[in-house]
Amino acid sequence: MGDPKGFLKIRRKVSGYRPVEERINDYSEVEIRLSDDERRLQAARCMDCGVPFCHWACPVSNVMPEWQDRLYRGDWIGAWAALEDYNPFPEFTGRVCPALCEASCVLGANDEPVTIRQNELAVIEKAYDLGLVVPKPPKSRNGKRVAIVGAGPAGLAAAYYLNRAGFSVTLYEGDRQAGGYLRYGIPNFKLDKNFIDRRIRIMANEGVVFKTGCRVGTARYAFGTQGSGSRIVEPADLEASYDLILLAIGAREPRDMKVPGRELGGIVQALDFLSLQNRNLAGEAEDALEPITAFGKQVVVIGGGDTGADCVGTANRQGAKKVTQIEVLPKPPEHRPAEQPWPLWPAVLKTSSSHLEGGERLWSVNTKAFTGNGQVAAVRCVRAAWTETEGRRVLTEVPGSAFDLEADLVLLAMGFTHVVQDGAVAGFGLETDAQGNIRTQGSFHTSNPKVWAAGDSRNGASLVVRAIADGRAAAEAIIRSLT
Ligand SMILES: Cc1cc2nc3c(=O)[nH]c(=O)nc-3n(C[C@H](O)[C@H](O)[C@H](O)COP(=O)(O)OP(=O)(O)OC[C@H]3O[C@@H](n4cnc5c(N)ncnc54)[C@H](O)[C@@H]3O)c2cc1C
Ligand code: SF4
Repeated sequence: MGDPKGFLKIRRKVSGYRPVEERINDYSEVEIRLSDDERRLQAARCMDCGVPFCHWACPVSNVMPEWQDRLYRGDWIGAWAALEDYNPFPEFTGRVCPALCEASCVLGANDEPVTIRQNELAVIEKAYDLGLVVPKPPKSRNGKRVAIVGAGPAGLAAAYYLNRAGFSVTLYEGDRQAGGYLRYGIPNFKLDKNFIDRRIRIMANEGVVFKTGCRVGTARYAFGTQGSGSRIVEPADLEASYDLILLAIGAREPRDMKVPGRELGGIVQALDFLSLQNRNLAGEAEDALEPITAFGKQVVVIGGGDTGADCVGTANRQGAKKVTQIEVLPKPPEHRPAEQPWPLWPAVLKTSSSHLEGGERLWSVNTKAFTGNGQVAAVRCVRAAWTETEGRRVLTEVPGSAFDLEADLVLLAMGFTHVVQDGAVAGFGLETDAQGNIRTQGSFHTSNPKVWAAGDSRNGASLVVRAIADGRAAAEAIIRSLT
């Protein structure tokens, strides 16, 4: 254990962000870092609990007490070794994870959990600085060949473990570059894409073969909804060439809003807007079907979640005239409500770095229609009242509360559903469940004995850390099955 009284003497200190007036003019990462000494003090707050609830809550089963103790002692190398044992990509989770561990940290009972996510990021970046994160190719190959379809975090994690275990792994990615939503969803100001490239270079040098621009199945979802141009790979050819195929193709069907006026111009899916910005920054703008920009516009973001917040940050950076984010649910409480006691994940108000940069947030607002002449001009809204009946929340509209929000650009950020329309699913003849996710039996097997599935494609839209955990578990199951 770090300092037995550390948690009594030292207050939680988060690293914070670059000043708004500076960061709003660029797309570089907004979060800054504490000094090494301050970081070690933050690690000293960990109490090495007998039952570490942080570990219990973490999908990749990170051993926080062990590596935070080493961090506190200044043993950065030991801390990294313990971290790497359970998390193949701490540089991604250290940047974008909502930190389920911190919500469960025992010190979180008093709203001051250990800064686990930022401690993790400090450890992995120190390991890179010290030149410790280097390719570790397997000593020998076992002769088994696995194709992984989809190079998001689930596919990358499965490839990482299978390759290190001696399998010959080829990753087929339909998009221009690997990374999935890490690259073409999450904005650069939260995750700089150089960090994805850095990890992919290491994996390629370990022997993972990346075939980008290769879509397995049909062309429909080539380059998301932004364009096309990828090569089509026939599912039957993969079945003939590999011992096993793992689909990690994500949940890529955005929820839509079927209200009058939806057909008007200027109403677009959040992901189309966000991925285009990331593609612009990567010099891939030519993949876009149409340019979408918030410059000089009144922007309404529908959806109060993280993707909506990413839209707010991106619209402000693009020079929007006004940004309003609306959410149909009521405003969450600022502190943990009694019915969601520690160590459960609390549904509390989340204010991201993007919200601090400008814009207005409205809750309990239902969207009734879009109005305009060819192009959207306004979102017709009504106030929502929420009551609870038999444990279920019921929405009613407040009479006489209708109002219009002027809008030239509407971004739909209401989450993602399923993969059912992806050509790979049909190409391999797979069954899907009621939500449209790939149906898996037992663990990762699909209805086709040679094809397995992992990540959001079988679990539904979730988190980077859950996709990594699922990719790792799939790799472990494949290793048991094929050797
Ligand atoms: C805008 C946005 C912001 C987000 N922010 C966060 C965040 O801050 N923190 C967090 O934890 N989570 C966040 N998420 C969720 C997180 O990114 C996903 O849960 C995670 O990426 C899922 O990983 P995956 O590997 O299962 O799928 P994906 O990341 O979706 O990757 C699937 C890959 O498969 C490829 N593919 C699909 N079909 C085929 C095919 N037929 N042939 C070849 N390739 C194919 C796709 O091109 C893609 O690269 C965010 C998501 C979005 C959209
Ligand atoms: S719950 Fe918090 S204090 Fe306890 S071991 Fe985990 S990080 Fe440390």
